[in-house]
Amino acid sequence: MIIVGIESSCDETSCSIVKNGCEDIATTINTQIDIHKLYGGVVPEIASRLHLENITLVIDETLKKANMSVSDVDAIAVTYSPGLLGSLLVGLESAKALSLVYNKPLIKVNHMLGHIVANNIGHTLEYPLISLIISGGHTDLILMEDEKSFKYIGSTLDDAVGECFDKVARILDMPYPGGPNVEKLALSGKDTYPMPDILSDDEYNFSFSGIKTAVINLNHNKPGINKADLAVSFEKTVAEILVNHIEEAVKITNINKIVLAGGVSANTYIRKSFDDFAIEKNLNIYYPELKLCTDNGAMIASAGYYEFI
Ligand code: AMP
Ligand code: MG
Repeated sequence: MIIVGIESSCDETSCSIVKNGCEDIATTINTQIDIHKLYGGVVPEIASRLHLENITLVIDETLKKANMSVSDVDAIAVTYSPGLLGSLLVGLESAKALSLVYNKPLIKVNHMLGHIVANNIGHTLEYPLISLIISGGHTDLILMEDEKSFKYIGSTLDDAVGECFDKVARILDMPYPGGPNVEKLALSGKDTYPMPDILSDDEYNFSFSGIKTAVINLNHNKPGINKADLAVSFEKTVAEILVNHIEEAVKITNINKIVLAGGVSANTYIRKSFDDFAIEKNLNIYYPELKLCTDNGAMIASAGYYEFI
């Protein structure tokens, strides 16, 4: 079964063609990062206008790469929520138009479910599992009994992890998106600065704004602070918080399959922390391929496949 997946919820316009929910035949991702960078973050109005300019080009390019026409596919899957309203509309209306013109079923896909199912491309997911979505807009702990069940068990009470990386990068004078820059800077530092111990007694919910404030205060109050060291202390604390929460969730639910998803799951230090934890506790841990960590059409096509069958 061949599904087209269309994604436009934030600042990536993407289209993929995926076979049987697991084989990525062709993917095109057009990222708007270079433009939003000028403003220090995603500007919704600009994002939706750029999606509008790019959507047909991205769909055409993907069909060309796969050597297919829309008439060759079985269904069209598209992100319907959550995301920026104007951006979502561009993908949704394009998918609806294709569905009408080619008389193909239209499948709506929840973007967050898509992030988790991105792990299906390359290896088959087994259920039940606990998923941790760590992205620019979300920090969600989700329990999935099977492909379609989707239960939120925890979330951030303030900033999302990726948002926190972006703000810390800004404090340390590095451009958006901050995560990869903080990671790079941290490579040349050592863990030096104390970070607050936040919400360590709440098993499921997260809080990151206190750590962000700690970074701001340290940076203001200590002239000549070593920024690389500060980046390490920050990254290490974030990784510890994430791993500790998963440890609690595993204890309570007795589920031993963990799936990471979202842009922050590209972070090597965080991946390594989860790898060490998984070895120590004898758990299975999955991450998406690096290019499928950020928003893409393949994850939407894959989630759409399960919805469709
Ligand atoms: P998403 O919201 O899933 O599209 O992912 C974008 C978010 O992931 C942004 O907040 C980025 O700063 C963050 N991010 C991307 N790569 C990394 C990385 N290597 N380390 C930490 N955060 C990252
Ligand atoms: Mg996303």
